[in-house]
Amino acid sequence: MANQQVYASVITIGDELLIGQTIDTNSAWIAQELNKIGIWVHRRVAVGDVWEDIIKALDEEGRLSEVILITGGLGPTADDITKPLLCQYFGGKLIVNEDALANVKNIFQNILKRPMLDRNLKQAEVPDICRVIQNKRGTAPGMWFEKDRKIYVSMPGVPHEMKGMMIQDVLPALQQIFQLPPIIHRTLLTAGIGESFLAERITDFETQLPTNIKLAYLPNYGMVKLRLSARGKSEKLMAELEAEFDMLKSKLSDVMVVDEDLSMQQVIGRLLVKNGKTLGTAESCTGGYIAHLITSVPGSSAYFKGSIVSYANEIKEDVLQVDPQVIKNFGAVSKETASQMVKGALKMLKSDYAVVTTGIMGPDGGMPDKPVGTVWVGVGNAEKTETHHFHFRFDRQRNMELTGTHALNVLRKFILNGSEG
Ligand code: AMP
Ligand code: MG
Repeated sequence: MANQQVYASVITIGDELLIGQTIDTNSAWIAQELNKIGIWVHRRVAVGDVWEDIIKALDEEGRLSEVILITGGLGPTADDITKPLLCQYFGGKLIVNEDALANVKNIFQNILKRPMLDRNLKQAEVPDICRVIQNKRGTAPGMWFEKDRKIYVSMPGVPHEMKGMMIQDVLPALQQIFQLPPIIHRTLLTAGIGESFLAERITDFETQLPTNIKLAYLPNYGMVKLRLSARGKSEKLMAELEAEFDMLKSKLSDVMVVDEDLSMQQVIGRLLVKNGKTLGTAESCTGGYIAHLITSVPGSSAYFKGSIVSYANEIKEDVLQVDPQVIKNFGAVSKETASQMVKGALKMLKSDYAVVTTGIMGPDGGMPDKPVGTVWVGVGNAEKTETHHFHFRFDRQRNMELTGTHALNVLRKFILNGSEG
């Protein structure tokens, strides 16, 4: 069954998904993981905790796909009906699974140290016609059913528990069953250029691309990743992919951040480690978001000193030693203030580099000469300070994300220009 195309559907279950209270991150994560191993996701469907709706989704997705991955509805509360429903749908009866029972007991006795309720014990019951997937991170076991040569896997809605089962059991099992052709990727990250402008610049490249190599645009946080992929792993194919990737890189050298599948903050981390330098941030309008991005990279303690969230003017003045007269004359959102924030951050955090932000994120606070989305980013080291002006035209959340991305890109270029590397 090698080199076949395998199709999957993802069904996420839960009323909270339909009213938008919980954002369905499960199906996005599952789709990404399936994509990596070469399984194509046909459809992603969200349904409520409603018997008929779940049955309908199972019927429809079962007709479309060979693999149907289901999350949610396995909790101990009355609204969670997925287990009895699947049991009936596949024609089984509920029996206690000893391993799952031991797992539930262990969690209550040794981890939660709480008495177990009957409804918790019930979590160890599973349909007798499924293969049980043990849950190492929670109480609800997963269930693997096969019917009419289709695979249905039910997993808990809790993202951390679902991911554990997928990584340890479901993904390896699917790879083994379908003997999926390997997929090879080459990815590069661009920043500071929109998707459509990027597309314009590489029209010729796209036109000449052989049909066995696919190009994907993956935009996120104001940056665009470009990914070339091909199915197979022959030397000829790998060389072909490499040649195309080189051509793409040469066309985008001015906007390329890195020629690997890395985030901007990972790239900055690598640069700082390589140069043996440290970083600090002073954040007004981003409120610590840049520090969060930096510290989301494991190992960031090697180069990140810390952040001063100088949201109020008095903190800019008292902690960062921005001259009150400068704020009075030019405003908190100004080139002059950003520049003094850099000096203050370098001094207070004793870091080699500092990156700072001050801006108006909206929806209120705009002025005729400084509309919502006005941002000053400052960057510097002991020798030099630079400031950059931006104007973002989105909502508060996106303005903040874009400020973070652009500030990090400004920092990256500053570090690169100041070093030989
Ligand atoms: P359940 O298995 O239905 O008891 O779900 C347990 C919890 O997992 C819910 O309360 C949600 O917070 C979370 N959850 C359920 N489905 C999803 C989903 N598709 N994406 C992200 N979180 C989810
Ligand atoms: Mg639920």
